[in-house]
Amino acid sequence: LETALRESEKLAAVGRLASAISHEINNPLEAVMNLVYLMDQVLPESEQNTEVRSYIRQADEELKRMKLITAQALRFSKQSHGPEAVTCEDLLSPIIEIYGPRFKNYNVTVELRNRTDQHIVCMVSEIRQVLTNLITNSVHAMHAGGGRLLVRTREAMDTRNERRGIAITIADTGVGMDSATMTNIYKAFFTTKGLQGTGLGLWISAEIVARHHGHLDVRSSRASQRHGTVFRLFLPYQGAAGEDPAKA
Ligand code: ADP
Repeated sequence: LETALRESEKLAAVGRLASAISHEINNPLEAVMNLVYLMDQVLPESEQNTEVRSYIRQADEELKRMKLITAQALRFSKQSHGPEAVTCEDLLSPIIEIYGPRFKNYNVTVELRNRTDQHIVCMVSEIRQVLTNLITNSVHAMHAGGGRLLVRTREAMDTRNERRGIAITIADTGVGMDSATMTNIYKAFFTTKGLQGTGLGLWISAEIVARHHGHLDVRSSRASQRHGTVFRLFLPYQGAAGEDPAKA
């Protein structure tokens, strides 16, 4: 238990460091973005300036990417007020509502099968961030023709220590992952989405889940498009309340 605690403290410290650096980078970054914008504005139209303008545009693309990364780290640093008791429905329905239009755009049908009304104690905005990451990843993984997203909740038991809690599974019919991808998904900055991805979503999610004494598991295959990827989030009932959830 002691090593587990030390590990989660270490992860929390890394998270704080990441958000502190992001915060410091954000202001100069915005200043540079404005300057690049102004450069583009004042540059006279001429034959030889088209090359300069293409450099400016490339610089702007890279800056936007940095902005995406700092924004994601900063969102993570915004702590919620403290642990709150909520149901799975409380956690999930605002996300499904907010992302409704995006699901439509991607031709994704969503089904929520809620099999438990139990309350869990957690940092609500953090757990919502984890669920949002998982759900948006699923949507991104869907084929052009759309797909199906199935979100299931039920009571569950952590077999490793017989701690009870809830399990939320998010199953998609997307492209799936090969085993090489699977071994890297929790690493910071690992992404297969090129400039569209930051590779921070699952890294941050794993950190949040560890702090809640929960688990994040994944099953995926490339062979069967019907199954795509299934992420399972287990959270003990009192994961955010104390160091020994079994006794809380
Ligand atoms: P990002 O989404 O910015 O790439 P993440 O850390 O959220 O960063 O995800 C890392 C990688 O894990 C993704 O680039 C993708 O390759 C893979 N991945 C995550 N979720 C899924 C999913 N549901 N289906 C297929 N691949 C996924």
